[in-house]
Amino acid sequence: MNRLLIATNNEGKIEEIRALLDDLQVELVTPADLHLNLKVEENGKTYAENATKKAVAFAQTSGLVSLADDSGLEVDALNGAPGLYSARYSPPPPSPPIFFENVGGVRGGLTDADRRAYLLQNLKGKPRPWIAHFRATIAIAAPNQDVQCAEGKCDGEIIPEERGTGGFGYDPIFLIPELGRTMAELGMDEKNRLSHRARAVTNAKPILERLLKSFG
Ligand code: IMP
Repeated sequence: MNRLLIATNNEGKIEEIRALLDDLQVELVTPADLHLNLKVEENGKTYAENATKKAVAFAQTSGLVSLADDSGLEVDALNGAPGLYSARYSPPPPSPPIFFENVGGVRGGLTDADRRAYLLQNLKGKPRPWIAHFRATIAIAAPNQDVQCAEGKCDGEIIPEERGTGGFGYDPIFLIPELGRTMAELGMDEKNRLSHRARAVTNAKPILERLLKSFG
């Protein structure tokens, strides 16, 4: 069976992507499965640049078709912040040098809960609703550096109190207004029907099938 490397150490992402690719005839492997400890600096100016950098580095090192995701939360009232810096959003002084991915939601000494609290602190006093958007770009790279991207977006609203225990990152404060529930209150199946990552993965499937046919 074809093998596909999911180029992330973020357990939350791995679980979601695994479920999203369930219908493909492919064996999914993670960097941990391959004892691969690769650090890729996320210094691109777009999600696509960062995702491409990660996918290409992992594909070249592993010799496998590799899928990387770069994602973030954009809040209108904060002019699109934290955006590309979502995983390392923290009060000054700036966090230490940034390395590839966060493990267990801890990065730069801060937890996902710290980052949610910091976001809410920055929104304090700003008029609601705090319209926000999750964005994801998936890059799929072959070992020969052939690489393509697909995107997905999910619109919602930041709320001042945490609700729900599912998901990861900013999920407990990201409300889906149509459902009246936060991302963290959705089951994995529900999140995977409407999330930014789900949409990006769906858009990426034709690319994935083509690359796996040639290089898998
Ligand atoms: P990166 O893609 O590893 O740079 O990290 C993106 C960051 O955006 C994550 O660490 C989370 O803080 C946030 N994020 C991305 N997708 C989600 C999601 O589905 N739920 C909650 N937070 C997310």
